[in-house]
Amino acid sequence: MQIPIYLDNHASTPIDPRVMEAMMPFLTREFGNAAAVSHVYGWRADAAVEKARAQIAQLIGAQPLEIIFTSGATESNNTVLKGFLPKNNKKQIVTSTIEHSSVLDSCLSLQKKGASVGFIAPAEDGVVGISNLEKALSAQTGLVSIMAANNEIGTINDIEAMAYVVEEHGAVFHSDLTQAVGRIPVDVHKQKLGMASLSSHKIYGPKGVGALYVRRDLQEQIEPLLHGGKHEQGLRSGTLNVAGIVGFGAACVLMQAEMEIENHRLVKLRTRFLSQLQKYLSNTKVNGSLEKRLPGNLNISFQFLDGEELFLAIQPVVAVSRGSACSTKAEAMSHVLRSIGVSSCLAQATIRFGIGRFNTEVEIDHVADVLIREVKRLV
Ligand code: PMP
Repeated sequence: MQIPIYLDNHASTPIDPRVMEAMMPFLTREFGNAAAVSHVYGWRADAAVEKARAQIAQLIGAQPLEIIFTSGATESNNTVLKGFLPKNNKKQIVTSTIEHSSVLDSCLSLQKKGASVGFIAPAEDGVVGISNLEKALSAQTGLVSIMAANNEIGTINDIEAMAYVVEEHGAVFHSDLTQAVGRIPVDVHKQKLGMASLSSHKIYGPKGVGALYVRRDLQEQIEPLLHGGKHEQGLRSGTLNVAGIVGFGAACVLMQAEMEIENHRLVKLRTRFLSQLQKYLSNTKVNGSLEKRLPGNLNISFQFLDGEELFLAIQPVVAVSRGSACSTKAEAMSHVLRSIGVSSCLAQATIRFGIGRFNTEVEIDHVADVLIREVKRLV
């Protein structure tokens, strides 16, 4: 058992050894630039990139040419939000209050420049409701950006129903799929997604690589953030991270092949973990819907204790994230927990557990034992 036990798989996942194996040639002898078309090194790099593009497209039901490689989901989200308005007449964006900061901060930056942004709050169970979305749409809405699954409380939104409403309204739907891809089935064409953001390091691939899916007919409507060699359909200039892209492609193949079996295993581990906590502790509160939730996610508040003390006590044993850094600093509180009505007092004693592919039953039991012991000591 490796201590501290890693239960922060929403922050990042370890690289799967099979992904690493696929990447190795491109970190060593296959060092060509995929855009260098005059020799075999470039051709081989380009072929590897195109294979990965097809693998990623396959996982989400896109065409390969609809996949634009980026440095990660932060860049993909920024590209969509900042690139869409300049080329569109309808200048309003609608998003939710529980999006990742790369969506929210991009929206705030656009707002400062005069754009109109509508923010919709989720229900108390952390799921964004269709009726709230319908109410927020106006004749000026050009783009709607709602995440498929939340990175803190793991709640899953019905993006297909939302995308349908948005299309009926004549606007474009973008979804941040970062936490959802490979964990819930996605078919961008069937589900009417116009654009979507993906990241490799959340699915056991390397960091610093991601993708933006842009439906073919929308590619003309995006102004790129980066100008240069006109790579990636002119939407994202810059020499491609070939090894990273190869790893990302391999990671997608594994997610697709193992989704069902892995989800089943993760739900079993999570249920085991939660039932142990609930058996011995009476002060736990799960944040967000347990049913509409990513399989490996558990976000729990521990009532009647000092979160800082609890966190310090368990930190040597388990690597997890907190719901808030400090109870006295309202601005440090998670915007997601605030959106679903969790008090700042409870947010400081809130922990996000992210169970992943490499966690075992033994690890989960050990974390549960330590947590139960420390919570009992502190209440
Ligand atoms: N969106 C969501 C929902 C995320 O969880 C993250 C990563 N925390 C991002 C976007 C940003 O992804 P990246 O690290 O690839 O920039």
